[in-house]
Amino acid sequence: MAEKPVYLDHNATTPVDPRVLEFMLPYFTEHFGNASSRSHPYGLEAAHAVEFAREQIASLIGAEAKEIIFTSGATESVNLAMKGVFETYASKGNHIILLETEHKAVMDTASTLEKKGAAVTILKPESNGMIQPDLLEAAIRPDTILIAAMYANNETGVIQPVQAISAIARKNGVLFFTDATQAVGKIPVQVEQDGIDLMAFSAHKMYGPKGVGALYVRRKQPRVKLTAQLDGGGHERGLRSGTLNVPGIVGFGKAAEICKQEMAADTKRLAKLRDKLEHAFLQMEEVQVNGDTNHRLPHVTNITFRYIEGDGLMLGFNQKVAVSSGSACSSALTEPSHVLIAMGLTADQAKSTLRFSLGRYTKEQEIDFAIKAISDTVMKLREISPLWEMYKEGMDLDQFNWPG
Ligand SMILES: *Cc1c(COP(=O)(O)O)cnc(C)c1O
Repeated sequence: MAEKPVYLDHNATTPVDPRVLEFMLPYFTEHFGNASSRSHPYGLEAAHAVEFAREQIASLIGAEAKEIIFTSGATESVNLAMKGVFETYASKGNHIILLETEHKAVMDTASTLEKKGAAVTILKPESNGMIQPDLLEAAIRPDTILIAAMYANNETGVIQPVQAISAIARKNGVLFFTDATQAVGKIPVQVEQDGIDLMAFSAHKMYGPKGVGALYVRRKQPRVKLTAQLDGGGHERGLRSGTLNVPGIVGFGKAAEICKQEMAADTKRLAKLRDKLEHAFLQMEEVQVNGDTNHRLPHVTNITFRYIEGDGLMLGFNQKVAVSSGSACSSALTEPSHVLIAMGLTADQAKSTLRFSLGRYTKEQEIDFAIKAISDTVMKLREISPLWEMYKEGMDLDQFNWPG
């Protein structure tokens, strides 16, 4: 088989850290007990391992172990948080506020709740991807029960002003939920300082295994109540029934511990490589970085290469570099990213955009290789692009759309 492309798509998923895998392995075979079967050593051993992981994860985010609820991933955590609050706080109100740049998990959960009677306000970000706190404050009504604002965006890496958002939520007695799937383990997320009431995150975005995630649920000031979304044995304080994924949880815990220890060093190294990549692309004409570069994850950059046809861009180098594009394939259609559209990009600009997300094992040679492969593709595509020719002739192309 040919050599695999350089992987610069860590916001989609990360490889499991070998130290994490090693830590997990005995829990598939030797220590296979059910963490709820506490009447014998098999179960007790599993239960202790789960509680140890809960401590490791709580320690990463400055929470108490009891405030961590294990789930199957961030998507489930988002569903539990939003649906759980909607059902529990129905007597207080039905109004939910969210950002237009939220992940699909949040957007789609909100539309399901809308069908069940929720009133939903979607806030537009500034062109840099950040929400204006004043706009949020103005949107709050007496019946507002929840603000959902992601910590860091999966496409642009833009970090929201979380402390300003939580201060507004607190002041108005509204719960604050954040999808922090891209932030936890990468930057110092602290539930107390950040004023977070509910927080979703996932192991496979931080060098842990797929299929395991967590929901942080604040226990005091205020004590957040939720309605369970799964009925069954009453695991996880009754909030999430089902036999616990012990190996996954153990791996999640180890991944959290490693992130805590190595976050500062990883950040420094990856920001340098990311900046190298970004600076190289910015040497070309008509290239722009999307999102606020001062409030951004260290390993992410989102770049538009204007005046080329987007579909060609990916095809040009996809055997060499694995990245995500500014469009999402929903069924057969290619839709421009709703995040980039919310930031004011045109559909064509969004489609000629690439997201680069570096990771723990990204090497400098790989960055050099990616710079060359992508720059070559961009230059080649521009040579054959009628838009590029028109741009070079000085035409105003902002109104132009690719046919089809
Ligand atoms: C990946 C991701 C999710 C979904 O996480 P899963 O664990 O795969 O369900 C949700 N939100 C954001 C911001 C993500 O990046």
